Amino acid sequence: MAHIQEKQIVYRGEKIKLVRRPHMKNIRVRISRPEGEIVVSCPYGVPNSQWQWALEGVWPKMLQARQQYLAGQQKQPKYNLDLVAEVQKILPRCQEITGVQASSIHFRRMYSRWGSCNTRTGRINLSLNLAHKHPMCLEYVLIHELVHLLERNHTPRFHGLVAKFCPFAQEAERHLRE
Ligand SMILES: [Zn+2]
Repeated sequence: MAHIQEKQIVYRGEKIKLVRRPHMKNIRVRISRPEGEIVVSCPYGVPNSQWQWALEGVWPKMLQARQQYLAGQQKQPKYNLDLVAEVQKILPRCQEITGVQASSIHFRRMYSRWGSCNTRTGRINLSLNLAHKHPMCLEYVLIHELVHLLERNHTPRFHGLVAKFCPFAQEAERHLRE
């Protein structure tokens, strides 16, 4: 493993981090996550004048990007659920209500859906974004996916079953849209 050099420095009165990497081709400036620090990365041997020149060109933009990033971080989400613990709590009840069992539950980064169900294997995937929604949403989505084990498609029968097993389905839908 090649050695990476990291150094805290002050540039134009701001604390930034200079990182030198052996196998790098270009000079790169970015905002680190989650610290929100301006980080300059450059190959070994690049003279200070050269990375400073590169940084100078993007300096106002980086200050603005850092400010935006830090401001965004302060907007804490209202909910931050421990999804695994929550599901352990509600799964037995949801399975009892629906009368079906999932073979396994997985949490994944999902972009356009809140959950999915493989009706052949019984595997259910739930979106990690549910952690930031009202807790009723997790239960609603879980019931929705379990009902797919009874009715594969979104037919009137499917929606009827979801409404029967989950009286707060509409309210949960509303929270999901928020
Ligand atoms: Zn569905």
